Amino acid sequence: MQTFTNVDSTEIAKFSELAAHWWELDGPCKPLHIINPVRLNFVQQHLDLQGKKVLDIGCGGGIFSESLAMQGAQVTGIDMSEAALAVAKTHCQDKSLQLNYLCVSAEEFATQNFRQFDVITCMELLEHVPDPITLVQTCANLVKPGGDLFFSTINRTLKAYLLTILAAEYIAKLLPKGTHDYAKFIRPSELCAWLRYAELEVKTIRGINYQALTDKAQLTRNIDTNYILHAKP
Ligand code: SAH
Repeated sequence: MQTFTNVDSTEIAKFSELAAHWWELDGPCKPLHIINPVRLNFVQQHLDLQGKKVLDIGCGGGIFSESLAMQGAQVTGIDMSEAALAVAKTHCQDKSLQLNYLCVSAEEFATQNFRQFDVITCMELLEHVPDPITLVQTCANLVKPGGDLFFSTINRTLKAYLLTILAAEYIAKLLPKGTHDYAKFIRPSELCAWLRYAELEVKTIRGINYQALTDKAQLTRNIDTNYILHAKP
């Protein structure tokens, strides 16, 4: 019998192809490098990472996972791309950071790790999975009572389409064509409804304003393109 996995193999193949370039500041993951300090700052506005048991879901080559570990968190990163994880493992060794990287789906991992983590982070992943509603529920199952969850993704607006697909993939060629699928972008109202359904309470939501021309990013109240939110059980 084939069991459902919340994984799109074409998505995983796309990220595996990028793996060798993951840590190039000017490479295909450049936007992740630029927004990373902003994401970390948002998390730190809500909690002290020191000693926290954190699960970073869809960790890729480890840009966000490493920054969490550098703040003293005990980080487990999971992803379905073996190639991205291989890069993540090598990179953290080079920096003498201790992280635990595993190739496993969130759903499978949750069967053995019910309510085990102080903090769940899920950055730029929801828009790449077949069933984001199930992933949100899985995150709810993984966090300890009283813990914290952070999600970041892209709003489904015309502006987001123009900036993240038309400009970034087709005009500036900052990202490989096909990195994003407009139909899979998620309105904040949708994500908030899925969170409520999973009995999670949304605490704060902020936009991430990424200015491709100046390579700068900052938190903003405008959530019409990239956004990040904090939720609690
Ligand atoms: N969270 C990282 C990487 C984002 S790129 C960061 O923001 O820096 C999206 C990542 O999600 C890729 O590494 C891809 O391999 C992974 N991914 C896509 N679908 C997945 C799934 N169903 N389960 C786990 N990881 C997945």
